[in-house]
Amino acid sequence: MRIAVGQLWQETNTFNPTPTSRRDFEEFGIVRGPDLIERMADTNELGGFIQTLRSWPEKPEIVGLVRLPAWPSGTATAATFTWLRDELLAAIMVAEPCDGILLALHGALVSELEPDVEGAVLEAVRQLIGPRVPLVATLDLHANVTQRMVRNADALVLYHTAPHIDVFETGQRAGQLLRRILIDGVRPSMAFRKLPMVAPVENANTQDSASVSFRLREELERLELQPGVLVAGLATVQPWLDIPDLGSAVIVVTNNDPAQASRLADHLATNLWQSRHEYASELLNAADAVREANASHADGLIVLSDCADATTSGSPGDSTWLLRELINYCWKRPALVTLVSPEVVAESHRLGVGGTHPGPLGGVRDNRFSTPLELQTRIECLFEARFVMSGHLARNMAIDMGPSVVLSHGDVKIVVTSRSGPHFAPQLFQAAGLNPFTAGVLIAKSPCGFRAAYASQARLIRVVSAPGCSPPDFWTYDYRKIPRPLWPWDEDASF
Ligand SMILES: [Zn+2]
Repeated sequence: MRIAVGQLWQETNTFNPTPTSRRDFEEFGIVRGPDLIERMADTNELGGFIQTLRSWPEKPEIVGLVRLPAWPSGTATAATFTWLRDELLAAIMVAEPCDGILLALHGALVSELEPDVEGAVLEAVRQLIGPRVPLVATLDLHANVTQRMVRNADALVLYHTAPHIDVFETGQRAGQLLRRILIDGVRPSMAFRKLPMVAPVENANTQDSASVSFRLREELERLELQPGVLVAGLATVQPWLDIPDLGSAVIVVTNNDPAQASRLADHLATNLWQSRHEYASELLNAADAVREANASHADGLIVLSDCADATTSGSPGDSTWLLRELINYCWKRPALVTLVSPEVVAESHRLGVGGTHPGPLGGVRDNRFSTPLELQTRIECLFEARFVMSGHLARNMAIDMGPSVVLSHGDVKIVVTSRSGPHFAPQLFQAAGLNPFTAGVLIAKSPCGFRAAYASQARLIRVVSAPGCSPPDFWTYDYRKIPRPLWPWDEDASF
């Protein structure tokens, strides 16, 4: 028995002006064939697939297809989409014949001419392998699930958590389901409901018992324990996508019982719809947030979520809104903030440690919502932003954001990387020689996922509302392609 495993992973943000290209995937780390099996066996969904397949009594031959990952960023070019699809198809053609395929997808990858990349890819794979080979795919909870994805997969298995701390386990659930299909003879019957709503992300914390997301996660877990239910998931979708089919979705897969799948999907969808107002979160503007943080930062770490420039949401990562406020204050303990700027890093390397970077800083990659800040800083240290990340989004995932630098302006420490990446990760600050947990204030460019690392460490967490490519108040921005009515743009949307 031969089972093939592969991955296509990127979350797109259509407000980010920087397009995603083939180079972004190549820089993040493409792996093929036997190398994939060897190197990804304990990493993310691929690791979950591989370890589960290795535990099958039938001992299937595990065939590595290709891993195609890129960090969240702007819309992929048309050529990038064609290349990604053809890479995956070519790998499957080499691997055939296969008895089953497991694909780790994100579900919110958008290219210039194709707003539903994963749907198009699943359709192309299905055409290639025919109707009888089981195809099970995993998706992020922020996927924009489409009818085309549902039609072309035997089952879609979604993360249950945000912060995404069940990435590996989602791969395991998909691997276990594939065995039930192939060995136990279960026949997946998938019910799909699309809802005219997009949930704000900041308060959607499945680990916080006060959050609506916690209650919904518990319901998913209860559903999966019901006899006949194979998997249940809900995708509250990535909001920063201006595409025609944007909306939340519910998936319930049963064993050959469409009526049961349909009834449970209706129940789950109604529950999500009726809970939509609970996703609202308390927001502070940048000036108020930093003033409040400065007043009490000496007593313990304060984390400010700069969700509008969240690199995990595909934002450019060089907004200066928070930095501008931080430099107005003296800090008894360090204030940590990040920027993405290959130009600033290159100039700092030229000038050397101890030199003065003349500025300006930031506002280049995000020239829509942010402007460069004229600021002279001291070059404190040069380092490589290379580490292995676990926690939100990752289990043992290698990250390389390239040559990097720490700049300082008083006690404001600015961690500047060449490439985008997890700009909330404690490991990034640690690679820079900084201790994120003993800082006075830390700006996390992440809307919710950062809580996995900081909720137990921070004395106070605040969500900041600044302009940017992934704003918390997204419905006040200019969307042109989304379907209407859609909540929260339209309070009169109905389901
Ligand atoms: Zn996500």
